[in-house]
Amino acid sequence: KHITIAIDGFSSTGKSTVAKQLARHLGYVYVDSGAMYRAVTFYAMQEGYITKHHFNKDGLIANLKNITISFKFNESLGFAEVYLNGENIENQIRTLEVSSFVSKVAEVSEVRQKLVEQQQVFGKHGGVIMDGRDIGTVVFPNADLKLFMTASAETRAKRRFSELIERGETVTYDAVLKNVEERDYIDTNREDSPLVKATDAIEIDNSNMTLQEQFNKILELVNS
Ligand code: C5P
Repeated sequence: KHITIAIDGFSSTGKSTVAKQLARHLGYVYVDSGAMYRAVTFYAMQEGYITKHHFNKDGLIANLKNITISFKFNESLGFAEVYLNGENIENQIRTLEVSSFVSKVAEVSEVRQKLVEQQQVFGKHGGVIMDGRDIGTVVFPNADLKLFMTASAETRAKRRFSELIERGETVTYDAVLKNVEERDYIDTNREDSPLVKATDAIEIDNSNMTLQEQFNKILELVNS
C-alpha cells in the first residue's frame, strides 16, 4: 500500500533532507510545500508587490490566478525542482532575501487556499511525502504517518548558514539565526493554519542525531 507521509516542523529542522532520503528509498514522490510559498514570494518580488518597505497584499491576491507552480523531476539531482510559470526557479527561491519575505506571504489566506488545494491534488493517490508547516494538520489531516521535526534554533541556524554559504551567498550567521527565529515566530502566530504539532504526530528532535540515525528511526516508523 502506498501511504501518505506528512512532515512538519520549524525552519531548517532537516525536514526536506529526510523527506528526500525517504522518497528515494520508498520510490515515493517528494513534494516541498515550502518551495511553493517561496515561488509565490519570488513572483511577488518580481512583480513589485513586495519590497523591503512595502507589501501590496491586495495586488498579489488579485494576481494569484496568474501564478502557475509546477514541479519537474531532475534526474541528476534526484528530486523535483520548482517552476514558476514554466521557468525553473529552484535556485532563486533559496536566497536569504526570499526567506526574509516568505512568512509574510504565507500569512495571506488566499495564498494558502490556492497552495493547499494544489498540494491535496498532489497527494490524491498516496505514495507521497510532503513537508511543510501545516501538512499533518490541514493538507493531509488523514495522513498515515505524521512526523514533527524539532532541533534547537542554533543547530538550525548553523545548518541553514552552511547551506547558504555553500550556495555562494554572502551572509552572516547572526542574520541567518535572526531569520530562522523570525519565521518561526510568524509561522506559529499567524491566524490561518499556524504551525502546530498535530496531536497524532510523532516528534523527532534531531539536534543530536546523525542523518543515518534519523533515517533509520523514521524508516522503522514507516514499517511499523
Ligand atoms: O520549508 P521552508 O523553510 O522552505 O518554507 C518557507 C516558509 O514557507 C515557511 O517559513 C513558512 O512561512 C511557509 N510555509 C507555510 N506552510 C507550509 C510550508 C511553508 O506556511 N506548508
